Amino acid sequence: MTENPNDQEKALAKLRERELDDQAKADTKRAQLEQAEAHDLAKARAIEQAQHRFRAIKGTRDILPPNSAVWNWFEDTAREVFEAYNFGEIRLPIFEQTELFARSIGLQADAINKEMYSFEDRGSDVIVKRSDGGLIVIEVKESLRLRDNEMRAQLEDLLARVERSSGLAAMAEPVTLRPEATASVARAYIEHNMQALPGNTKLYYMGPMFRRERPQKGRYRQFYQIGAEVLGQSDAPAIDAEVLEMLLVFFNRAGLTRTTLCINSIGDKNCRPQYVELLRQELQRVKDQLGADSQRRIETNPLRVLDSKVPSEQPIIEKLPRISDHLCDDCRAHFAKLKDELNLRGIQYEENWRLVRGLDYYTRTTFEVIAEGLGSQNAVCGGGRYDGLVELLGGPPTKGIGFAIGTDRSILSIEETGNAPAPDGLSVYVAWMGLASYPTAVWITRKLRDAGLTVELPPEEMKFKKSLGLADKLGARYALILGEDEVASRTFTLKRLADAEQKKLTEAELLEYLESERRR
Ligand code: AMP
Repeated sequence: MTENPNDQEKALAKLRERELDDQAKADTKRAQLEQAEAHDLAKARAIEQAQHRFRAIKGTRDILPPNSAVWNWFEDTAREVFEAYNFGEIRLPIFEQTELFARSIGLQADAINKEMYSFEDRGSDVIVKRSDGGLIVIEVKESLRLRDNEMRAQLEDLLARVERSSGLAAMAEPVTLRPEATASVARAYIEHNMQALPGNTKLYYMGPMFRRERPQKGRYRQFYQIGAEVLGQSDAPAIDAEVLEMLLVFFNRAGLTRTTLCINSIGDKNCRPQYVELLRQELQRVKDQLGADSQRRIETNPLRVLDSKVPSEQPIIEKLPRISDHLCDDCRAHFAKLKDELNLRGIQYEENWRLVRGLDYYTRTTFEVIAEGLGSQNAVCGGGRYDGLVELLGGPPTKGIGFAIGTDRSILSIEETGNAPAPDGLSVYVAWMGLASYPTAVWITRKLRDAGLTVELPPEEMKFKKSLGLADKLGARYALILGEDEVASRTFTLKRLADAEQKKLTEAELLEYLESERRR
């Protein structure tokens, strides 16, 4: 029996339909599989990421509560003391042109140069360096900001053409995270024309500094300093003495009591060069007995040899000529007057002829404060006169003196001697129970906080026992119990957690009681 051609066509169409159907099903399945795989991959990545624990970079650290309260107290005490001496706070940028530090700290200062965190800032300004070393700054218009790679490529092309046609060299602006702040203060003094202000300019600052040093206890890559500077026309020894008095009053008030102040004079441009030359000659004579660092410094910076802590070099250094025997008359008189001024103020000090600063703009007074219990990193403050710095940075002839306190080490020392103040901690924990009491809990919490008390309000309802347990664990002094009874009778139950003594109080009584407790 021959099949009807129509039936055959129908059968073929059906077959094709089924094939297409199967194909579609297979496609859907593949898509689902791919989706599932992608999902698994994303999940695997998320797990991997979650397992990768970020950590603070080597040499940096977090300062957590309650320790941060000691930091705040230390800084507040500095503000209080410095302001009593009529110093005003200057808030400085964290980064500056590399050139500022290169010039002030000196490229030859071996440590600082390799220790600086520098980078090229491809910001809106482009620096063009002339063949004579001078810099031209081209400001890139807002519309030309390097929003995407195309624009960046266009600008780079433009700069390349400028370079080719003019012999100029284009570069991004080199900037550096500040390794110290005196250079920034001097820069700000010049920039804001502070020499026109009446009297001496007395500034203090506080904040992080950055040096790529080998981290150890008391030495970090991001560390904190509190500093003060006096800039102006006078270099009277009374200024140096007052700065030292302020420093020691602050240390005393901050509980940093077991300290030693060391002072020295390193002369000025009239007498120091001869001394440095004499020192160099003497060092040449004993060169073979010195280590590699000191040998190198004989040429680059002989004064720095006096800083050496290498044990085998100590007997040699002790026999070297001392600057105190080579000061000119003016420097000798300045140092003698400084000591008189310190005596007048009842300030104890030790003279240390090896306390030097290797840079040319430092003059006369140098000092350092050493604290007990810090091991090898025991200097908590360094400072001195820098009468040549402002001029070196392009400003008018200006005298200057200042210091920088290492906050990290000072706090370590205060904590090690047990002189850190105990933090106030949590006063009241509001143990509310039942949703009806919640509005009263919110409102009384606000009132107590407005009165200056530290109060914790649990965000969710808890069982009574659990709530009081948490109050205990948080170290609260009181639990304010607030349940339906209290709301109904418009009272509060205050429980002293140390001895479980309980009182029922009205709102006015509660506020009065807690405030009187706070004042005690
Ligand atoms: P300087 O600016 O080098 O004269 O240092 C002044 C003070 O800052 C020192 O006496 C230290 O207390 C502190 N200090 C300097 N460098 C560091 C550092 N890397 N980590 C912690 N404190 C530092």
